[in-house]
Amino acid sequence: MSDSVEEFSSVFQHAKKVVVLTGAGISAESGIPTFRGEGGLWRDFDATELATPGAFAANPSLVWEFYHYRRTIVAGASPNAGHYAVAALQRRCRRLGKDFILLTQNIDGLHAKAGSTDVVELHGSLWETRCCHCKAVEANRNMPICPALDGKGAPDTVHEANIPSMQLPRCNKCNGLLRPRVIWFGECLERDVLRRTDDALQGCDLLLVVGTSAVVYPAAGYAPLVKSQGGVVAEFNTEDTPISYNCRFKFQGPSSVKLPTALGIGEDELAEM
Ligand code: NAD
Repeated sequence: MSDSVEEFSSVFQHAKKVVVLTGAGISAESGIPTFRGEGGLWRDFDATELATPGAFAANPSLVWEFYHYRRTIVAGASPNAGHYAVAALQRRCRRLGKDFILLTQNIDGLHAKAGSTDVVELHGSLWETRCCHCKAVEANRNMPICPALDGKGAPDTVHEANIPSMQLPRCNKCNGLLRPRVIWFGECLERDVLRRTDDALQGCDLLLVVGTSAVVYPAAGYAPLVKSQGGVVAEFNTEDTPISYNCRFKFQGPSSVKLPTALGIGEDELAEM
């Protein structure tokens, strides 16, 4: 495993199809808590246990309060240098005639805010809802998303979670209960997303894996897949992960610093939109 910027730059020069996979770690420095590690708790609940269909079925009020809290945090957040470096990399690949695809497990929309285009959001978006009854999908950026959630969601409130179901966000078309349009643990990715991801990974000769604990499938399988196809994997993370051994490059540290450094992206290129 190497952390040589020169060696990485030479691999990049020869790459024809570059894919970037990001996870919650890239947004940590924008003030958005990750699920694992520091900030993974909300009102004494393990965040990973709230992002499940079972949790929503058992207590939709609790899960909506959690998502309202997450929307509040994200609404006030700005992209950091890591997001801008990924957007700059996309522009650079375009100039050099290389294929580039950005896959993100994040639902915060910060890549698009930083200027990335055609982002494949594997796990959906915090800013969209789906009706549990008629399945209609709608964009919704209202804060709060419904009056009953006003002032709710604070992490230090002790177990409020008692909003009656009829006062939770409801569908404009059929009045069914809305849920966030996100993929919860135990759910399958949407078909179109799976197709775009398969296309992206086919023939990928350079994969950058940024800020993901690499324990959530299918994304956790992308690095071993690219490696088995003969591609090169570079990991950007503050820690080691289960995919680290698949990586030819490991840039250990915050992605806001390590990404621009490894990619040789200066202030001028970061700011270009
Ligand atoms: P995770 O919380 O499981 O892991 C975060 C990873 O980022 C860890 O490996 C950690 O070491 C690393 N990390 C932390 N700070 C970093 C930094 N500054 N620079 C580089 N790496 C850093 O996140 P995951 O693997 O994305 O999986 C969690 C799931 O939760 C995903 O499905 C995602 O949809 C969801 N999630 C999304 C957000 C978001 O949209 N911002 C936030 C939390 C969770």
